[in-house]
Amino acid sequence: MNIHEYQAKELLAKFGVPVPAGFAAMSVEEAVAASRQLPGPLYVVKAQIHAGGRGKGKFKELGPDAKGGVRLARTEEEVRAAATDMLGNTLVTIQTGEAGKQVNRLYVTDGVDIAKEFYLALLVDRATGRIAFVASTEGGMDIETVAHDTPEKIHTFAVDPATGFQPHHGRAVANALGLKGDLAKQAASVASKLYDAFLGTDASQIEINPLAITDDGKLLVLDAKVGFDSNAMFRHKDLAGLRDETEEDPAELEASKYDLAYIKLDGDIGCMVNGAGLAMATMDIIKLNGMFPANFLDVGGGASKEKVTAAFKIILADPAVKGILVNIFGGIMKCDIIAEGIVAAAKEVNLSVPLVVRLEGTNVEKGKEILSNSGLAIVPANDLGDAAKKIVAEVQKAA
Ligand code: GDP
Ligand code: MG
Repeated sequence: MNIHEYQAKELLAKFGVPVPAGFAAMSVEEAVAASRQLPGPLYVVKAQIHAGGRGKGKFKELGPDAKGGVRLARTEEEVRAAATDMLGNTLVTIQTGEAGKQVNRLYVTDGVDIAKEFYLALLVDRATGRIAFVASTEGGMDIETVAHDTPEKIHTFAVDPATGFQPHHGRAVANALGLKGDLAKQAASVASKLYDAFLGTDASQIEINPLAITDDGKLLVLDAKVGFDSNAMFRHKDLAGLRDETEEDPAELEASKYDLAYIKLDGDIGCMVNGAGLAMATMDIIKLNGMFPANFLDVGGGASKEKVTAAFKIILADPAVKGILVNIFGGIMKCDIIAEGIVAAAKEVNLSVPLVVRLEGTNVEKGKEILSNSGLAIVPANDLGDAAKKIVAEVQKAA
């Protein structure tokens, strides 16, 4: 689960991380009111979307010469103009894809004079299985570009969970950023607090870009991206309210309501499978037969009829889907329950694409009977290879 910049900064501030003062705003008037509460003379009006690269982004509605989604303002009128430009319009950045994202929220912050910008992130390093710091003197830029062009400017070091954050980690961050004296102390302190925040919230990522030195020698977090481990959200009921569902893919959002693991993909064959391993195998075998999966969907071990119906509807709502392959191994889950779900859903949504079903396991005969008695044009398959061949053949026949 990802959150907005303003939420991330408010959260980090609770852990003592230094951030500029600011207020979220949902309207132009709220943005202006927010700026009145800040000391000035410089304000920053920032589009709140779940994507980076906003500063260099472009608004679809405003033309190529208009400024992006992070604007400096010096007067109330400039705040008003920036907010008017952004709210309701679509911001396209290197991270949003061509479609862009509609801006519905703003963050108005105290503007600072920047002497230097750094990059500092915490993430879970899969190679070492540890939380790792990533630090670079090249802040304020796209970190992927830095990694590609000047990889030697990116420093990574993992923290041993047995010791936790130690003073030498703080010194390593300061060194990586080339800081000395008081600034090195500030960097070590920021690093330590970010580590506390990462652990304390079960974060999966905290990315500060830029971490800035201000003209008066203060280290300040100017942009923050925070994501949490969804599997740990049950431990953080207080964070659930930070979710902004309008930022999520509608199909994935619907799937999450039914506790279905659904990921939209680019292919033509919708898949409904139980178990992540079987789902991966099903996707592979579709590819082996020359087509591509339209989604990953794991209905889980003990899915109910309602869950199967919901899964089926989500797949069918995707206009890219030209055929559906259901591949279920009935262990905990019984084949007749799956079959009932499939029939109910197919009737409800007016099935308009070929459907191949492979069932195996508990109550398989009962399941097959339900399918064949349903009056629906369901193609039964005997095994995984047979199922993949059949769905590809059916889709090609229909085309
Ligand atoms: P992003 O483009 O989505 O990464 O948004 P950021 O919040 O990182 O802002 C982009 C850039 O705007 C930063 O790298 C800074 O150069 C600039 N910026 C952000 N806040 C301030 C500020 O308070 N003062 C000044 N002078 N520049 C700022
Ligand atoms: Mg940034």
